[in-house]
Parts: sequence; C-alpha cells; structure tokens
Amino acid sequence: MALIVQKYGGTSVGSIERIRSVARRIARFHREGHQLVVVVSAMAGETNRLLALARELSANPEPREVDVIAATGEQVTIGLLAIALHEAGLKARSYTGAQVRILTDNAHTKARILEIDEQHVRKDLAEGTIVVVAGFQGVDKQGNVTTLGRGGSDTSGVALAAALKADECQIYTDVDGVYTTDPRIVPEARRLERITFEEMLELASQGSKVLQIRSVEFAGKYMVPLRVLSSFDDADDATGTLITYEEDDDMEQAIISGIAFNRDEAKVSVMGVEDRPGIAYAILGPIAAANIDVDMIVQNIGASGHTDFSFTVNRNEYQKALAVLNAERDKKSFEAREVIGDNRIAKLSVVGIGMRSHVGLASKMFKALAGEGINIQMISTSEIKIAVVIDEKYLELAVRVLHKAFELEKGPDAS
Ligand code: ADP
Ligand code: ASP
Ligand code: MG
Repeated sequence: MALIVQKYGGTSVGSIERIRSVARRIARFHREGHQLVVVVSAMAGETNRLLALARELSANPEPREVDVIAATGEQVTIGLLAIALHEAGLKARSYTGAQVRILTDNAHTKARILEIDEQHVRKDLAEGTIVVVAGFQGVDKQGNVTTLGRGGSDTSGVALAAALKADECQIYTDVDGVYTTDPRIVPEARRLERITFEEMLELASQGSKVLQIRSVEFAGKYMVPLRVLSSFDDADDATGTLITYEEDDDMEQAIISGIAFNRDEAKVSVMGVEDRPGIAYAILGPIAAANIDVDMIVQNIGASGHTDFSFTVNRNEYQKALAVLNAERDKKSFEAREVIGDNRIAKLSVVGIGMRSHVGLASKMFKALAGEGINIQMISTSEIKIAVVIDEKYLELAVRVLHKAFELEKGPDAS
C-alpha cells in the first residue's frame, strides 16, 4: 500500500465526463489498496473567465479580492469530483485550501506556502476516505483566501506530497510527460523517460508550463518522487516522465534536454543612465520594493559616463515597473535620458546538464537563429542554460529551428 498524491489539471477536469474519468482512475488506485489525496485545478478556462470578470470592473482590481474570486474555480471541481467518487461507491471528502489549512504568506495572487496542517487529511486517509483538495489556494494567518500564482495547483500537489511524505506525487495533465519542448509547437518533440530535478527546475523557471516552478522547487527541497503523466491515457503501464534527483550512470546522457520559452515577459530599459556605483540598486531597489520579480538583467559597457540598463519582468507587471521607474526618475533617484520598454518580446532557453562540458553550443544556437534572420535582443547564460530574448513574433519559428539544429527529436543514443 502506498500513499499517492495525484494532481489533475484544468483540461483533465474540464467537463463532467472528464471528471467521471478521473474518478474511475482514482477508483482503480483505491482498489489496488493505495491511499489517495487528489488535488484538482479549476475546469479548463475557468480561472481565465473569473479573472476577466474582475477586470471588467477594474483595470487594477485589489489583489485580495482577485484571490477571493479566482479561488472559487477550484472549489467547484473539488465538490464535483467528490460527488463523482461517491457515485462510484467510494468514500471521499473535499477540502478547500483554508479547510485543510494550507497556510501561506499574504502575497495575494502569488502567495507562497509556509506550512500545511495535514491532520484532517491523515485522519480521513486512515478511515479509507479519499481526500480531494482544491489546488492553487491557501489561507494567510489572518484568514484571507490567497492564491499561489498561475499553474499553482502543481505546487499544491507537491507541497501536500511533501507534507504527507507521500510515496509518489503524480501530476496528470493533457500530455503524457515532459517533452524536449512543448509538443504543441514542435510535433517532433520527444518525451523524456526521466529528467533530472536540476534540468526540470531550469526548464520550469524558463517557462515550460508543464510544471509550475515552485512545485519543482518544493520537490527538490523535500525530494518528492514526482512523475508527470497523461490523464487521457488509461494504459496501466504508462510511465510518463520521472523527475530524478541523482544523475545515474545509465541515464540518457543528452547534452541538451530541452527548449523552454516564455511569452509572459516584458523588457524595460533605462537609456542613457549615469554610469556610477549604486545605479543598479537605484533602479532595481524600487522595483524589488514594489514586489516586482526581475528576470534577466543586462547592463551595457558604459561610454562617456553613461550606460543603458535593461531587465525583464512579468508582462502583467510591465506597466507597474514603468510607473515605478518614471516616478524614481522624477524624484531624481537616478538621471537617465529615457525609460522605455517593449512588451512584445519572448524569451527562449536551451537547457541541459551536458552543456557544462561542451563548448560551441552558444555559437550553434546563435548561428541557427541568424540563419532565419532572427535578431537577439538580450542574452543570459548559466552553467546549464543559454537564454535569449527575441521579438515575440519569431518565437515559434525560433523554437522549431533550434529543436532541429540540436537534433532533439533523435534522442541521445541515435547517431
Ligand atoms: P494543466 O492544466 O494540466 O496544469 P498546463 O497547460 O498547465 O496543464 O501544462 C501542460 C501543457 O504544458 C501542455 O499541454 C504543453 O502544451 C505545455 N508544455 C510546455 N512545455 C512542455 C514540455 N517541455 N513538455 C510537455 N508539455 C509542455
Ligand atoms: N486554475 C489555476 C490556473 O489556471 C491553477 C492551475 O490550474 O494550476 O492557473
Ligand atoms: Mg498547469
């Protein structure tokens, strides 16, 4: 008997028929003698619909109220799934995040989980009840409903698995594992049997939305056995993709494991800013104080005492970032010719542990992009990744070209 946490995403619970199908899979695991905690997302499209309702009333709705609205999507699916399980003759109970007591900080719309009280869950499990928990949501110390950021149900699932020391956390979605890139963009993309935690972390942080980055961070911190599977595949022997925590010898030795991309970024540039000690802090300090996350940062070589300073932020914080910097400039925190930006950019990253020991990968990447006339606006590298910012309109082309250039469809053993 194992304790398994299963998480089902929006498409997997997107209709009553899909919910019945999820209930059938849960029943199968239950019959095999496993204890089950099931985390569900809102039905496909529902979170977008709820957020759009709030925006119909206000361009800048209060985040606390946005969370109150957005969290209802998952409340519907937990109730529906519990009923579907009852109809299948099983004992099941639904819980919202607050009812479990998934305690978070108070950063509305992007809250972090601080602690999970797993008492009720354990008691139910011991009685043979299937526990159904709303993903994406928690509660802060004051009792306010919070949400964990888009894709946050993955994190709810992994965090519950960590708190319960589950034997496995299974993320059921609409693809049958983690691929070399988004298979919707590159049909030749290849499913990976296994991927190291480190590579998965990098892919997720660079935008592969198959797993929310925080879920991967949680998995790494608590070594949660994590697997990505398809909820549309009923085969008993489906293995999906396993996230592994050690590089073992017979693991696929690919140089590059995948390509990630992110359309949710925007670029902010402070042009002609004075080139003096403290300038990065004068620009990024207020951005951090406004709780805006910064991703890539590039400062040009200074010339005649001035330089250009650019960074990227999440697209939905773009206007806020521009406003913060313009206010700082008006206050003379720094002097600059102008503060400009572009929210039609995309970031694309090539990721792989094998990159550590290989030279020439960056030039191969730049050559492939140049061959299609795609201009690179920013570059950033780490030990296991090369990321570039390009015009959004070339993104899909760039992903296809790089997937081909690095022969990712072939797999490490093909030669
Ligand atoms: P869910 O609603 O189940 O959480 P998501 O839409 O959040 O599903 O994530 C699954 C989607 O992630 C897939 O449909 C696919 O388009 C996309 N995706 C992006 N990169 C990858 C990748 N490397 N491997 C698999 N899927 C990916
Ligand atoms: N329903 C939320 C979203 O659409 C959380 C999730 O699906 O993981 O972002
Ligand atoms: Mg998701």
